[in-house]
Amino acid sequence: MAFEGLSERLQKVFSTLRGKGKLSEDDVRKVMREVRMALLEADVNFDVVKGFVKQVRERALGAEVMDSLSPSQQVIKIVDDELTKLMGEEAVPLNKAPHIPTIIMMVGLQGAGKTTTAGKLAKYLINNDKARPMFIAGDVYRPAAIEQLKTVAQQVGAPVYEEGTDKDPVEIVKNGLAQAAENKNDYVIIDTAGRLEIDDKLMDELARIKELAHPNEILFVADSMTGQVAAKVAHGFDEQLDITGVVLTKLDGDTRGGAALSIRSVTGKPIKFIGQGEKLDQLDVFHPDRMANRILGMGDMLTLIEKAQTDYDEKQAKDMAEKIRENSFDFNDFIDQMDQIQKMGPMDELMKMIPGMANNPAMANVNIGEKDIDHLKAIVYSMTPKEREDPDLLNPSRRRRIAGGSGQSVQEVNRMIKQFKQSRDMMKQMSKGNMSGMEQMMGG
Ligand code: GDP
Repeated sequence: MAFEGLSERLQKVFSTLRGKGKLSEDDVRKVMREVRMALLEADVNFDVVKGFVKQVRERALGAEVMDSLSPSQQVIKIVDDELTKLMGEEAVPLNKAPHIPTIIMMVGLQGAGKTTTAGKLAKYLINNDKARPMFIAGDVYRPAAIEQLKTVAQQVGAPVYEEGTDKDPVEIVKNGLAQAAENKNDYVIIDTAGRLEIDDKLMDELARIKELAHPNEILFVADSMTGQVAAKVAHGFDEQLDITGVVLTKLDGDTRGGAALSIRSVTGKPIKFIGQGEKLDQLDVFHPDRMANRILGMGDMLTLIEKAQTDYDEKQAKDMAEKIRENSFDFNDFIDQMDQIQKMGPMDELMKMIPGMANNPAMANVNIGEKDIDHLKAIVYSMTPKEREDPDLLNPSRRRRIAGGSGQSVQEVNRMIKQFKQSRDMMKQMSKGNMSGMEQMMGG
């Protein structure tokens, strides 16, 4: 998981403070030395670390901590604040043109995730802004790039303007924009060529596209796995193109934190989105405060709730609430819910967004995968329609039949039915506004 090492390191450092009634200057200095090491090991840019540590140390030695009754909490809060600041304070929305189309130009090195992110962004705009985006295929050096963009475009249901690989990309962009104007597309996403490293020819081409298209956004796509190098490359692109924002990709990998924590400081440009997987819906708005919380192992409940809201159809949610009130929640609804949960993304990633779970040692052994959910579903699918509607029908002989049909043990089937009944009862209690059900769920 992203930031795992850094997160563990920082929590260990802070645990040495816990229980201390008062902190001495020496305690603070010691902790800050450790924080500094942790950041450097996470591949954060040296100057950024230096500035950060200085800032935190000054505040930690100030009255707000030294006079506080729980100094360790105060220190953690300061680190949390300063990490947030380092990554930009607030989420910064995409620029939007006063008249259509809003033009977004994707730039970055090869393999950073430009084309994938172009597709994710289109999907995001379609879902959140009912947009009608069009892509322009501006990477004329690799025929495979155009094919890849076409595949992605087909998946999100948006057209691609392309003229193969023989023309000047500036010309293609010009013709593409004319096409978009004709079709009244409200967003145009220009995919551009990348290189393995920054070179003058590439920069010159990008500058010419910029000059022609006047994009509202120039998004630098940065591979977070490359650590602080990403920040350096971003700086290079920014100097030439004056980028408007950054998308940080591959945050689902075991990236250490160097890119996320350096890039804002080094370029002064906001990180607007983060990519957290290869699938086209795995793009999230970047919230510096939530990311800081995540780094400090405090979870990311807000993103979790938002995910639930966007993924969970409103009408479905209403229907479900109705069913719970009437106590008619059955195994068919259970399957619907499992489908919803699976759509939200990998279970263990979701679990880690719950405060205290990310670095909870118990999580190390938890591996709730698609497989477990598939097992539960297999059990339900082995029931007859009547049994799905009326769980009370499930006597021992029916349970044995279901076990055989689903390839699970009878114990497994029993456990699942018991859990189902428990959660149904709990939901019923919660729907009556009785929070003890919730407390049972949280407290065990
Ligand atoms: P481009 O050369 O910059 O256009 O990069 P691509 O869009 O072709 O992406 C390069 C590789 O990175 C592909 O295999 C993508 O699937 C993968 N990729 C892009 N974004 C993400 C992400 O957020 N997470 C993961 N795990 N992989 C990603």
